[in-house]
Order: sequence, then structure tokens, then C-alpha cells
Amino acid sequence: MSAYLFEDQTIGRLAKLNKIMENSLDKIRVAKMSQKCPVCGSNKIATYLRGMTLFSKKLQKDIDEGKIILGGCIVSGDDPFCICTDCNTEFYKQDL
Ligand SMILES: [Zn+2]
Repeated sequence: MSAYLFEDQTIGRLAKLNKIMENSLDKIRVAKMSQKCPVCGSNKIATYLRGMTLFSKKLQKDIDEGKIILGGCIVSGDDPFCICTDCNTEFYKQDL
């Protein structure tokens, strides 16, 4: 029955992936990020940091506390700038 167990795990992973894709279809845009998540009300908002990053003790602390997430160096021009680490909702800058 181990094959079925594996199958269940795969389905669970796919469902998770699906959820992420669903979320990304409906981008939430905000002019300015508030201290609280507009979706779930959590205050665990992390900011993406992109591009070349100079590591410092403060940065490391912010990463450890979940305030900063390193987003890598590749910028597409329409990337989320914040994420709620409670409900995993990403927030995009509002078009001006
Ligand atoms: Zn949230």
C-alpha cells in the first residue's frame, strides 16, 4: 500500500501548488503596505528584498524574525513586494 501513500502525498503537494497558482492569478495590489494583512489580519508581513544585498547583522536579524525574505536578483518588473507569512498572500504594488 506504500504506492497509495505516495499518491496521497503527491495529491497533497499538487493541491498546495494549485492554491499558490490560484492566489497568483488574483494579485492583490496595494498602494502602500499596512502593518496588517488585509486578507487575514495578521501582522506577520515580510518584505521581499531583491537585488544585490549587503549582509549585515540587522539584515540577518530581520530575516530570522521573518520580516525580510530574500527574493533573489531576478526582477520581472511586477513582483510582489510583501508577503503575509501567515496566509502566504503576496502583495503587489498598485499601478499608478
Ligand atoms: Zn495574511
